Amino acid sequence: MKKFSGRRFFDFLISGILLLSCGDVLTSCSRGAKAESISFTAMNTYMTVKSYGKTAKEAAAANALVQQEVERLEGILSTTIQGSDVYKINNSDEEEIPVNAETAYLIRRGTEFFKLTGGAFNPALYPLIREWGFTTGEYKVPNSDRISELLNYTDFSAVVECPQSGRIETTAGNTTVSRPAGLQLDFGAIGKGYAGDRAVEILREAGISSALLDFGGNIQVLGSKQDGSAWTVGIKNPWSGNPVVAVKLRDACMITSGGYERFFTGDDGKKYIHIFDSSTGYPVENDLESVTIICREGLSGDALSTSLFAMGLEKSIDFWQTSPRDFDFVIITKKRGLVYTKPLSNSISLLFDFDSIRVVE
Ligand code: ADP
Ligand code: MG
Repeated sequence: MKKFSGRRFFDFLISGILLLSCGDVLTSCSRGAKAESISFTAMNTYMTVKSYGKTAKEAAAANALVQQEVERLEGILSTTIQGSDVYKINNSDEEEIPVNAETAYLIRRGTEFFKLTGGAFNPALYPLIREWGFTTGEYKVPNSDRISELLNYTDFSAVVECPQSGRIETTAGNTTVSRPAGLQLDFGAIGKGYAGDRAVEILREAGISSALLDFGGNIQVLGSKQDGSAWTVGIKNPWSGNPVVAVKLRDACMITSGGYERFFTGDDGKKYIHIFDSSTGYPVENDLESVTIICREGLSGDALSTSLFAMGLEKSIDFWQTSPRDFDFVIITKKRGLVYTKPLSNSISLLFDFDSIRVVE
């Protein structure tokens, strides 16, 4: 087993704490680049963006554009903001709802992952998620009849996007969406990943070539560090919050879904988490603590971290082995086991004495 290599290597922790060392900042300053950070709360998440610009002003201006864009997307995709596309789809009696191009795009990409994962990823579980109290905090275990009834409204493939090829840049609302009565959407499992992709695009367009984004457990990096080396990002220990694995990243995202993030304990003493098994309507119960996906695109990483968590260990391994392998994963099990995909071997270092380690080929 590899020995711990210590905390000093960390740029960032999944917990959202920025741990850039003075060394990094000095390096960047000595090369003329200036770092600026911005933090804000959007999509129910505390978000931080740190960009390196030719001047501090350039970096700050780019960060402000990112905040604006994330807030704009929240206004379109939120389940709770009245007037958002998703709110209208979920609450209006109209048969066809005009939506922004972004909503149509997420429906299209959601459909791709719904099919790819055999329904493990399902953005139409909102009625169930609400019934269990995850939207309000008034948690309860619904009775099984109610769960069976609500399952009837969760066929995401019944959501139809009416004409328009819909370029994503268009926000003209020239696309409409129809869905069966009672069906309600929730992009909670891909919205932040998509917002991260947009943020990276905006930073690039603003001339930023090096940046680090933390959207609450979703880490996305643009380029590499100022000295040309990779960013090093930690996956935290679900039991104590310490980093247990470090991964080197360049132009990539690292996105974690964990049962320990949001859950409640029922009167029956059982722990019910916020990731759902779309075939049963119950929160997922398995032996995983967390699933971290490493890949290029935030939206994919976000969709897949939720999906693989819902699939469980063996199905996740199968899924990766039969997929085009354009992503990697690091899974931490409740039995303090580590499972990761072989292409990560050169970029991963272990900071914890795991009880078992399995490398998937
Ligand atoms: P987080 O947003 O907490 O980082 P995830 O990306 O894993 O975590 O998304 C979990 C959210 O996605 C849930 O809170 C819920 O809104 C929604 N969700 C739960 N189960 C599923 C599922 N099987 N498929 C798609 N979305 C889901
Ligand atoms: Mg997700």
